[in-house]
Amino acid sequence: HREVPPLGGVPLAIKDNIFIAGGVVTAASKILEHYTASYDATVITKLKEHGAVFLGKTNLDEFAMGASTENSAFQVTRNPHDTDYVPGGSSGGSAAAVAADEALAALGSDTGGSVRQPAALCGVVGLRPTYGAVSRHGLAAMASSLDQIGPITKTVDDARILFGAICGEDIYDATSTNSSLEAFDLERTRNMTVGIPDEYFVEGLDERVARGIETVRESLERSGVSVRRISLPHTKYALACYYIIVPAEVSTNLARLDGIRYDRTVKEPKSLNDLYVRERGGRFGTEVKRRILLGTFVLSSGYYDAYYTQAQRVRRLITQDFEEAFKDVDVILTPTAPTPAFKIGEKTDDPLSMYLSDIYTVPSSLAGLPGISIPVRSASEEELPIGFQLIGKRFRESDIFDLGSLYEQTTVSQ
Ligand code: GLN
Repeated sequence: HREVPPLGGVPLAIKDNIFIAGGVVTAASKILEHYTASYDATVITKLKEHGAVFLGKTNLDEFAMGASTENSAFQVTRNPHDTDYVPGGSSGGSAAAVAADEALAALGSDTGGSVRQPAALCGVVGLRPTYGAVSRHGLAAMASSLDQIGPITKTVDDARILFGAICGEDIYDATSTNSSLEAFDLERTRNMTVGIPDEYFVEGLDERVARGIETVRESLERSGVSVRRISLPHTKYALACYYIIVPAEVSTNLARLDGIRYDRTVKEPKSLNDLYVRERGGRFGTEVKRRILLGTFVLSSGYYDAYYTQAQRVRRLITQDFEEAFKDVDVILTPTAPTPAFKIGEKTDDPLSMYLSDIYTVPSSLAGLPGISIPVRSASEEELPIGFQLIGKRFRESDIFDLGSLYEQTTVSQ
């Protein structure tokens, strides 16, 4: 007989900014509406080797810019727990597909929270790997110093299996490297110390989320894990820093979509400028244009040092906050998102309030650290899901998987 590969026949959904050779890959943008991928992303090659089956592509915010999947040029994705609510984003289609039992698991991508936040809002598990743990080859680039592909699953164990299948060094991504993934060890997990950052429990945090995090802390302590308060003093600058660096990288990455390569629809342009205006002006959505304009501005001569260089310095300070904290603790526990799912349309006219959805996921993204969102077990199935986040040291996915598994095991048997 032939041996069945580890993911043999396992049906997966794939975010539509990841290339599958021969298939259309739109990144939920009109500008790629008819574009067919000519090669497999490295994560797809690896999953094929493991025997996985691809059910289809899932909706996202255009080029992964957004937190609700309402920025898709094609569809609005709804939250399976209540269809008046958003599924989060930008990997909202992947999270909704897993939550609705349409796929056993899915792949998303996370730049500032796009795997973890929709996982939290849909009541499933979402991992953002350490920057460099998973190859970005074949992912439509948003902000290359932050983008990572990660699994969205029903359980922490499933996330561990999928991460194990897709991680590793790849010659097509110079930032990728090998990770070592350990098996669950109960004793080691119980001896961990968990830190809770003071700066994450501030105005804007929903009461329901705060209570949820409290129950997670109690559950971990009952298992023997020690929990202590920590400080990440530069947290308040993280969103401002992110919204300089991301638009800067977006404006350069998306310059390649010039209306000539990839997918061209304008037949007889009067001039090069006319072509750009009609292709880029006519086919990019509002949020994408907003970021291209912002990014072009912060990179322009005379402003570069004031904005971009300054943001890089702040990014360093945020990274140092985590390095300091991880001298005393193994894992950091935080909310994933400040609120449960919000209503469709509620934040579409207010980009700033949409950006605030990622306040708890952006800092660890800037620091390149792994983070996982896991559903808080609640007494009532009626309520909208809430997620908690575990942030680990660089390349210590094993630690956050172990602690997450411990939480799942103890809350199931209670
Ligand atoms: N919502 C955040 C943004 O719009 C994060 C997106 C992402 O991680 N791709 O930038």
